[in-house]
Amino acid sequence: MKAEIIAVGTELLLGQVVNTNATYLSEELAGLGYEVYYQTVVGDNPGRLKTLLELADTRSELVILCGGLGPTDDDITRDILAEHLNEALVMDQKALDYVVSYISKSGRPMTPNNKRQALAISNGQVLENPVGLAIGTFYQAEKTAYMVLPGPPRELKGMFEESAKPVLKELLPQKMKLTSRVLRFYGIGESRLVTELAELITNQTNPTIAPYAKTNEVTLRLTAKTETNEKALLLLNEMEEKIQEKVGLYFYGYGETNSLQNELVNVLKQMGKTLSSVECLTSGLFQSTISTIPGSDLISKGGVIFPSLNQLVTSLPNVSSQNESNDYLDEQLLTLVAGNCCQMFETDYAIAIAGITDSCQSESYDVGEVAIALTDRTGKQEVMRYNFGGNKASIQYQAVLKGMDLIRR
Ligand code: ATP
Ligand code: MG
Repeated sequence: MKAEIIAVGTELLLGQVVNTNATYLSEELAGLGYEVYYQTVVGDNPGRLKTLLELADTRSELVILCGGLGPTDDDITRDILAEHLNEALVMDQKALDYVVSYISKSGRPMTPNNKRQALAISNGQVLENPVGLAIGTFYQAEKTAYMVLPGPPRELKGMFEESAKPVLKELLPQKMKLTSRVLRFYGIGESRLVTELAELITNQTNPTIAPYAKTNEVTLRLTAKTETNEKALLLLNEMEEKIQEKVGLYFYGYGETNSLQNELVNVLKQMGKTLSSVECLTSGLFQSTISTIPGSDLISKGGVIFPSLNQLVTSLPNVSSQNESNDYLDEQLLTLVAGNCCQMFETDYAIAIAGITDSCQSESYDVGEVAIALTDRTGKQEVMRYNFGGNKASIQYQAVLKGMDLIRR
């Protein structure tokens, strides 16, 4: 909000008094969030003060005048402002009572011009003076707000702190706050996510929706601009509901720094469930990824590693007797292995991962073909097949993520 300060007093122009009021007010206004664009000093001259007010009208939303509120004839500020605003000066009874009692206590005779200090601008708001006699004024005109404060620095500061500051705080437009929520998705690419949400994204205003593609996942940042936290929560919930309706299947969690492994560990921890693994593709990467999350030892009971499913068959003759196919991606065998793992480690879930990462491994499969079997304690089984792109490390990592996502669901 654009503000300006007008200090009134010929003594300031003559250099007899340093304009410390303007310095004080500028600092205070900046602290409140006002932008002070002008500081002007004008003498006790009605014509020039009027011209200055007309100019201030055109360029400022808040004009603070200081000085010239005293009882003498050269104190013209409130008269000129009232004239400028086309308002009458009215006696403020409360202020007058105070002036009368103050003067009588001091033992001085009351002079007619003492009463001037209790004059208020009609339709304005009286600002009480906790230090002196002259009252101040706040007046909201159509485009510009005016404030009149006394000249003596002690009075100015007293009135500013006590009466003016609360008014100025109220006058500022309510600050809009930005509140964000990050939604994380796995198993859907950015372009498909954006296509599914095209209508919501095109019509977005508040909250805004910003998609970001990360390695192997996509996040959506929703940002609401509101005055209150309650309103932000309401807008974010509304938008999230619409998003979940369309792509909720791929949603796995909230937050800037969340991850699938984090969600998996926390979900299993909450349910009091455990897991084990047979890694014939990922060489321990599955267990190692989970182990980076605090509390992983509560949910993982361990696992075994083989360089490939074939190696497992060779190493465990009792398994190989049940499987003659010598198949790198035998789904039946993989399910059996997962089931055995579940029993051996006595866990609620077991996962078995196998796949092709080198062209020399198999003539019947392409590099990147992966099978993942999941079994639970009750004997429920599921096998999924995937085709992952990229180099060996990338295939392994994608298999780990997919495995974690399968268990989490
Ligand atoms: P009073 O009732 O004392 O006449 P007033 O509101 O009319 O108060 P002025 O007459 O303009 O104010 O100034 C009173 C005294 O306050 C000045 O002599 C000066 O010492 C001080 N003063 C006024 N304006 C400023 C200013 N901008 N910065 C610092 N001091 C000021
Ligand atoms: Mg004066």
